[in-house]
Amino acid sequence: MKPPPERAVRCYHCSAEIAVPAAARTASCPACYKGIVLDDLAVREGAGMSSRLATCGKVTIHKKARAVTRHVEAGAGVEVDGVLEAKVNSGGTVVVGAKARVKGDFSAPSLVVEEGAVIEGGFFRIGPA
Ligand SMILES: [Zn+2]
Repeated sequence: MKPPPERAVRCYHCSAEIAVPAAARTASCPACYKGIVLDDLAVREGAGMSSRLATCGKVTIHKKARAVTRHVEAGAGVEVDGVLEAKVNSGGTVVVGAKARVKGDFSAPSLVVEEGAVIEGGFFRIGPA
């Protein structure tokens, strides 16, 4: 029997590189023992208000969604097609779509802003960590 496939993720609590079963949707970090979400998160419509959206996967803000949250931690990137107001820490590319409106501080390895997108302000730290 082959061992189950694993994927490498970075814990968003303590930044440890850990291996998790590829099919797992949540895990607990072996370094800091906190629970982490591995699934992609999507805010689909309406106002998504929470203090934190965090996952080792990707965070997507859909067209009709308005996400106002203190913190977004996304291990695999952020895609915004709606409204996002947050402090964003992304391990992957942040894509600000043509209909998107964003406000907040962004930290990501790369940033794509499509023509038509509105950036209302914030501090950007883009590039390899
Ligand atoms: Zn951890």
